[in-house]
Amino acid sequence: MPENVTLLITPIAADEEVVDLEATFREVDASEPALRVGELSTQRGDGIFETIGFVDGHAQEVRPHLERLRNSARICELPEPNLAQWEAAIARASAALPTTGEYGIKLVLSRGIEHGPTPTAWLTANPAADQRAAREHGVRVVTLDRGYDRGAAERAPWLLLGAKTLSYAVNMAAIREAKRRGADDTVFVSSDGYVMEGPTSSVILRRDGVYSTPAPTGAILHGTTQLSLFEYLEARGERVEYRDVPIDELRSADAAWLVSSVRLAAGITAIDGVPFPFDADETAAFNAYLLTPRD
Ligand code: PLP
Repeated sequence: MPENVTLLITPIAADEEVVDLEATFREVDASEPALRVGELSTQRGDGIFETIGFVDGHAQEVRPHLERLRNSARICELPEPNLAQWEAAIARASAALPTTGEYGIKLVLSRGIEHGPTPTAWLTANPAADQRAAREHGVRVVTLDRGYDRGAAERAPWLLLGAKTLSYAVNMAAIREAKRRGADDTVFVSSDGYVMEGPTSSVILRRDGVYSTPAPTGAILHGTTQLSLFEYLEARGERVEYRDVPIDELRSADAAWLVSSVRLAAGITAIDGVPFPFDADETAAFNAYLLTPRD
């Protein structure tokens, strides 16, 4: 079984019905050249993506990821993706991957080539890095100013906040800054003092038995892992809520996690160098649930 799959996809219109979707994919060797140098995704980061967890033969939460891809396309004014085509591409990659172990399936929809066919699209599947340390022992975070307030998305839609764009240079810089400060990861804070999200994760906190996450009202991404964990918590009879969370409420919470599709739940163990309560049992329960097949 291959450990890597790369599919180049010829995007079809959202409402187009194609019987042989397989004919719109071309499998290529990831080590071979496959994209043109004129790609706007590489030149300008002008495109969108999704990363889907693949656990023991099952692609997790495909529909929520595809819905978010569609929403990102809308925000970025890219042609609406044909979800059936993406589903078929994910199914093709899933069938090729080993049935045990963890992988990440990445979907990319780019604005394409300047003056050329648009958009371009591809899928890559690769083994996930070993996530045990973060899942079992948690992560130390720093809080970093995101540079805009909670109202920025509405006031300035051209910032494309709320879309999962390929422009992740700032997100990666924030992780480097965390490492420089002796931590592992970052919690972004709005300029008006509210918890937003991590550079590659959503934030969930627990206070007095209530689980909260910042409302995904535009300036942050709506995480598929957070959504799934809220369903799990509600089924357990717990109270969950979306609300504005002032940064001091995170500092004094009973427990908190960064959650995302491949790393899953990483409990926060320190904030800005101050030790923070880590709930090992609850984190283990979250990850046991997140590793079960989820649709
Ligand atoms: N927020 C940002 C900025 C992200 O990049 C991600 C995932 O990469 C998330 C939140 C979490 O989303 P998901 O749980 O769907 O992986």
